[in-house]
Amino acid sequence: MDDVIAAQAFRDNYIWLAPGPEPGLVAVVDPGDAGPVMDALAAHGLSPAFVLCTHHHGDHVDGVPALAQRYAIPVYGPAAESIPGVTHPIQDGDVVGSDRAGFYRVLGVPGHTRGHVAYVGAGRVFSGDTLFAAGCGRLFEGTAFQMHASLMRLAALPPETRVYCGHEYTLANLAFARLVEPDNAAVLAGERRARRLLAAGQPTIPTTIADERAVNPFLRTSQPGVRRAAATMGGRETDTDAAVFATLRRWKDGFKG
Ligand code: ZN
Ligand code: FE
Repeated sequence: MDDVIAAQAFRDNYIWLAPGPEPGLVAVVDPGDAGPVMDALAAHGLSPAFVLCTHHHGDHVDGVPALAQRYAIPVYGPAAESIPGVTHPIQDGDVVGSDRAGFYRVLGVPGHTRGHVAYVGAGRVFSGDTLFAAGCGRLFEGTAFQMHASLMRLAALPPETRVYCGHEYTLANLAFARLVEPDNAAVLAGERRARRLLAAGQPTIPTTIADERAVNPFLRTSQPGVRRAAATMGGRETDTDAAVFATLRRWKDGFKG
């Protein structure tokens, strides 16, 4: 059991409230909207210690100014991106946070955006729009090569690491994963689990790095079945894992789950 709280925003965004060592204090991750954050803080009797931003897209940061004004707390965000309200620009390798609310290591994971970062701490990774449950973000500012390297970095985290991503895309992602690997039993089991959780009104998040390595086609580019599917779809043999990744990403861009 984990005690991270999901505040839902917009259609399918998750804003995460992550507890640290001191009861009642949380890190707020990717507040695209301040309202749901304030509601969740009040409902659970929590205080925000700081804000973590993974990348500059509005659905992840537009709530920052209102939260900064109300609570006057540090706001961490990638130095390579311009995000209104960030007080502490950070980059790969930095450690952010506090004794009371917990520390997070910053991983540079470019691809979705140029400066996208993930935050790793307390057995969790907040992966923003880089690694989704059973999928990955679109390439808006980076290259397939960058995104593939970023996903490999995340895949190398300890297998039990819980993955908290920015959107509820899991079921559609698993439908694509099934197309790529029709015989992958873990994908079918993942779909059953996701359907059950969604029917109960619960997030399908978190998954774990081990789950992602078992079902996520974008982390499985070295698997023979994934390579065969990519070769068929791309119309030619793809040699490197990054080329397989690029083919899968293009394929999924045109896929309507
Ligand atoms: Zn985004
Ligand atoms: Fe997003």
